[in-house]
This record gives sequence, structure tokens and C-alpha cells, in this order.
Amino acid sequence: MQFCVQTVKTMEGRGPNLSIDQVVRRKLQGLEVQTLRRGLLEIGRGDVGRTTRDGQDLISFCCNDYLGLSQHAEVKRAAADAVETFGVGAGASRLVTGNHPLYADLEDRLARLKGTEAALVFGSGYLANLGIPPVFAGSGDLIIADELSHASMRAGIQASQAESRFFQHNDIDDCRRILEQERIRFRHCLIMTEGVFSMDGDRAPLADLCDLAEIFDAWLMTDDAHGFGVLGVGRGSAVEDGVADRIPLQMGTLSKAVGSYGGFICASRPVIDLLVNRARSLIYATGLPPAVVAASCAALDIIERDDELVRLPMARALQFTQSLNLPDPESSIVPVIIGAAEEALTASEQLVQEGFLVTAIRPPTVPYDTARLRFTFAAHHSEADVERLADAVRETGLLP
Ligand SMILES: *Cc1c(COP(=O)(O)O)cnc(C)c1O
Repeated sequence: MQFCVQTVKTMEGRGPNLSIDQVVRRKLQGLEVQTLRRGLLEIGRGDVGRTTRDGQDLISFCCNDYLGLSQHAEVKRAAADAVETFGVGAGASRLVTGNHPLYADLEDRLARLKGTEAALVFGSGYLANLGIPPVFAGSGDLIIADELSHASMRAGIQASQAESRFFQHNDIDDCRRILEQERIRFRHCLIMTEGVFSMDGDRAPLADLCDLAEIFDAWLMTDDAHGFGVLGVGRGSAVEDGVADRIPLQMGTLSKAVGSYGGFICASRPVIDLLVNRARSLIYATGLPPAVVAASCAALDIIERDDELVRLPMARALQFTQSLNLPDPESSIVPVIIGAAEEALTASEQLVQEGFLVTAIRPPTVPYDTARLRFTFAAHHSEADVERLADAVRETGLLP
């Protein structure tokens, strides 16, 4: 009983025991007073780009399904056929028995589209970003990343146990300063950024980052979750900027413009071979369901052949910014920064009244005082939809 007495002693001074629910309720109240509490709203998805909320029909301007491929007849057919042929679940990790034949087809297509030697598909973009950095940087190495890098990239940086530094958003001089000061102390150095920033819609200075990586003997990894399928005639930001052959680690997701699910990396054959051996989020996670992989293959087919479709999201984004005298869009994502979380929510509600679903993005997803409306434009939005949306935004009186 020695043990029990000891335990009780160390608990002294901690106040009354609270149940997990009591502790959790306090945390939720804390979020509530800051207007930061989130919940999961049920959203019906009918026709492409249309949703229903509380029985009201809405046109969605906040979906990442930029090409509407999640609802495309060919893509749905491919998924249904794969279920018939292969069943529903993959059954195991890809390294055990979960590597069904559709994976090779998908990886060949990805490598071809991106012009790399090889590609590797992960369970999701999050899992790809969690698993990749630790394979190329560890203790004694340095990772330098844009301060606005996606939460999944930060998870991978943390998991790597490398030293990390963050440069000011898209600030190439700040990145150079860190390299000048720190690079010499470390063995390997990884620079990480997004091709298109998910909450701001702006693009990284990829050519400049490639230059820095070459000068300072560092490796560049890009996350092109929002550029792939939209920019560079669907090939992504690196192609758009003419630097595809200078970025050794090109990560992306199949869950946005591709309309399906999964993450990937395009790279050289040796890089892919090492990832298969070392990336824990690949090795210790079950393979994707065959239907999901088949859907991705069918969607990539469409992206590869239908340049007209691929150009539409940017065309609609441009129509919107021109109509409201905003700066030209750099991607299919257009943010309108509002500031206070509460006002962003009110604005979002006003747009719902007008029949548009545009979510308010609040901290901690974006920095404090930069709560915003984030508009995403997609191929299935008509010019008339966009014009009506611009009118509704004007009516909120939020724009100068
Ligand atoms: C959505 C997103 C991810 C995560 O991809 P999933 O496939 O949804 O897990 C990673 N990085 C960025 C920049 C994203 O926007």
C-alpha cells in the first residue's frame, strides 16, 4: 500500500478531482467566449456545387472540389466498378496485402502528369505530410518552413525531431537570412512551403526558393494541395512557374481538385524507394479502399485530357475579383479578410441568406484578427452564379 500513499501525496495541492467531462466543459466554455467554438454541421451534397443546409438550397463557394470531379459520372462509375471487382476495404497496409493493382496505375499516372520518375500514394495528404519529412531530416538536421505552412506539415516537422525555423510568409529574404545564419551547423537541410497557400490563396516564390535551395545545399519540398488540378494546366504550381524539374519532393493531395481521397508525393525513384521503407504513416496505415484509388485514376484521366475544364476555376476567380475590384487572383482561392471572428461569422450568415455557402475561417486556422471569408471557385460555377455572388458580397458592405 506504500504505492497508494505515495500517489495520494503527489496529488496534494491539485485541488478537487475533476472528471474528464468537467475539465473538457471548461475548455469548451473558453472557446465559446472567444467565438471560436466549432461544430460539425450536417451538409447535404446534391448536384455538384449545390448543398442544402437546414433545408435551404445553397451554392457552395467553399468546397475544394475545384473541378467537380467528385460527382463526375466517369469517376463514380470507376469507383463502383472497383467495388465490384476488388471489394470495399484494402484489408491491410500496402506493405502487407493492401497494395491492390490499382495503386500502380495511379502512381504511373501521377508521375507522368508531374513529369517525375516515380510517385507514391499515401492514405491522405495529412498522412503524407506527417510521414515524409522524418525520412529526410532528423536530429542534427534543419527544417526551414514558411510560417503559414499547413498543420499537417507542422506535424511532420515535429515528428522529424530536426531543428526547425519558420520564415515570414513568402519572405525570401527572411528565408535566406535563416540559411545564412544556421545552415552551416547542420548536416541536411529541408525547405518546406505550399505551392498555393490554402487560407490566403497566394503562391510561394518557387523559383526563388529553388535558387536558395541550390545555393545552400538544401532540399525543397512543396505541398501543392490547392495547385494540383488547377494551375499549370492541371500539373500544378511548379509547372505553372516552370520549376518542376528543380523540386525534388513534390507533395499533393487527391482530395481536392481530383475529387477523391488520398495524398501523394512525386519524386525520383530512389526517394520513393526510401519512403516505402521508412515513412511510418505509409507503413503502419491501411491502404486506401480500391474504389477511392480507381476514382482518382479516372479523375486524373479527365485532368490530363480536358484543358478547358481545368482552366475554369481560375477564370471564375478572375471574374469575381474583377467584378469587385480586388487584386487578380493567384489561385482559385480568394480570401476577403474581415478581422474579428464574430464579424466574419455575421458576413457568412448574410451570404447564406442570399443563397451562398461561404465559410468563415477563424483562428487558430488563421492568425488572430485575420478572420476571413474564404471563397473558392470551381469549374461548375456559372458566370451568372459568380455575378450574383459578387453582388451579394457588395451588399454586405464589407468591401471598401
Ligand atoms: C487539405 C490540405 C492537406 C491535407 O490533405 P488531405 O488529403 O485532406 O489530408 C495538406 N496540405 C494542405 C495545404 C491542404 O490544404
